[in-house]
Amino acid sequence: MKPARNLVQSLQPQAITSPESLLNAGLIPPDHLAAVSEASATLPISITSHIAGLIDPALPDSPIAKQFVPAGLENNKQDGELADPIGDIPHSPIAGIVHRYPDRVLLTPVLTCPVYCRFCFRREAVGDGLLTGTDLDAALDYIRNHAEIWEVILSGGDPLIMSPRRLTQIIDALDKIDHVAVIRIHTRVPVVDPIRITDSLVTALKRKTPVYIVLHCNHADELVLEAEQAIATLVDHGFPMLSQSVLLKGINDDPEVMAALMKKLVSSRVKPYYLHHGDKAQGTSHFRTTLAAGRAIVAKLRGRLSGLCQPTYMLDIPGGHGKVPAAEDYLQATDDDDWVVNDWQGNTHIYHD
Ligand code: SF4
Repeated sequence: MKPARNLVQSLQPQAITSPESLLNAGLIPPDHLAAVSEASATLPISITSHIAGLIDPALPDSPIAKQFVPAGLENNKQDGELADPIGDIPHSPIAGIVHRYPDRVLLTPVLTCPVYCRFCFRREAVGDGLLTGTDLDAALDYIRNHAEIWEVILSGGDPLIMSPRRLTQIIDALDKIDHVAVIRIHTRVPVVDPIRITDSLVTALKRKTPVYIVLHCNHADELVLEAEQAIATLVDHGFPMLSQSVLLKGINDDPEVMAALMKKLVSSRVKPYYLHHGDKAQGTSHFRTTLAAGRAIVAKLRGRLSGLCQPTYMLDIPGGHGKVPAAEDYLQATDDDDWVVNDWQGNTHIYHD
């Protein structure tokens, strides 16, 4: 990786990128400065002007502030927390590639993000950095030489922070690989820096290979007018949009809050896809709920929300063993050919096979 420079798009100055600028903006009190400086040595600080505009300094526990304003709690590392919690490194054959499942790879051309989410599971990896031209060529060659790769997931960092010129190079290269049928882009840009969703960005992404966009969004308060307009631009240009959210203590670990998020995503034409259980990244225990709490929240969504609004609750098994659905099982087999089936209201029924 080399420092990101002109190949990363800079449309507006970052509003807040240092502990001192947090202090000047009134987002931390003076006595938090030392602890926040320590936290920023692991995960940099970046809060876009757009996100800064959504934070009321008088409400430090608001869902937006808690996601982006660093806290001293990040310096508390717990037993069992890992620097590489989902095991990307063992599955990375070369720089910029994570190949965990046979038919798809993660391509990480950039490690920079417009914002740094304080619960980030790649907190030890993200920061300034762009794959070198040589490493990017090697990563694309890896995809070319593995005919079993059906889908390429652009992640990072945030791929949509790259300039349209750099994105065009990458999407063009992938579009020319016959066995790559789908490109997926994981991004937070439409909600954290919506001004970046421009016509030239759309042009950079549009090819014959379908490009799916997966929006990372954790609270309905992120879906303000500018974000909804950015999403509408992408959907109107034909990009299917899905969402991924992280279950976060004190931010969205409430059935009503979660329901409001999922409904707002769907009404913005984004289909809820995954709700991730918090990964065991170092210094993130203050964001993690228990699995039991997550399962209870998801169970309350079932039956009360349209099927369109249901995310799949997922646990990434620490150590790189992949994801598994984590929600309650509604069916239990009996010894004969019967199943006990629980409905959404808690009643049980017998289904005979
Ligand atoms: S945008 Fe994604 S990769 Fe970047 S800090 Fe947030 S969660 Fe991590």
